[in-house]
Amino acid sequence: MVSVRGVYKRFGAAEVLRDVDLTVEAGHVTVVLGPSGSGKSTLLRCINHLERADRGHITVDGELIGYRRGRGVLHELKEKQILRQRGAIGFVFQNFNLFPHLTVLENIVEAPRYAFRRPAAEVEEQARALLERVGLAGFADAHPRTLSGGQQQRVAIARALALRPKVLLFDEPTSALDPELVGEVLDVIRDLAAGGTTMIVVTHEIGFAREVADTVVFMDQGRIVESGPPGRVLDHPAHERTRAFLEKVL
Ligand code: ATP
Ligand code: MG
Repeated sequence: MVSVRGVYKRFGAAEVLRDVDLTVEAGHVTVVLGPSGSGKSTLLRCINHLERADRGHITVDGELIGYRRGRGVLHELKEKQILRQRGAIGFVFQNFNLFPHLTVLENIVEAPRYAFRRPAAEVEEQARALLERVGLAGFADAHPRTLSGGQQQRVAIARALALRPKVLLFDEPTSALDPELVGEVLDVIRDLAAGGTTMIVVTHEIGFAREVADTVVFMDQGRIVESGPPGRVLDHPAHERTRAFLEKVL
């Protein structure tokens, strides 16, 4: 479903992604671990073309992201086409990023309705079903600021799902939350995993990774140091850097 091949990215002199390869099968959950600055967010941002890789390429469901091939060379897509591609790649941020001036329902219907021009009635019905799915059926008319962080993050997940993405990317979805609110967000992600949603989740929640991930990837200094099933990477890491990292977060 997601294929990252030889992706290299630098900011000035800093090499942030150094030839990253990653494959995520349809219906699988990949958890990405790694120390601060290892390139986790940049990798996710390259996958939906919020950042442009300097080299390498990314495909989602076989479609090249950000470019089209023409006469043997790559041409960057126009903004409108990039936005269409991004619709198929849901992104859930650490800080929710809800529109503060819109209600919960309006947050969810905004992109499907106005960017993708789907019919209002259909989009609203879907939004209400999604709110129910994330346990917020009674909150359609609430404003984000009146919700807890856990509730806001669940709205953000519903909003991402409203575009019927082929893959969902999560960048530390629970790290801005009070500890007692982490579980309700992880429960929603767990349900999505059980329902076969393809996901890449950057998180430091090792217990969650152990339980939900098909593959755990450990990144350090812009490289994937190792990857494999959670039982192997978390319990029998092959690399000293993975071991040292796990000792710190566990
Ligand atoms: P964290 O766990 O702290 O979120 P991360 O693994 O997500 O870290 P990135 O945010 O991908 O790491 O950043 C990797 C490196 O790239 C860091 O050194 C960061 O300072 C640098 N970086 C990220 N974005 C930019 C940018 N827009 N301009 C310059 N440097 C950047
Ligand atoms: Mg990050």
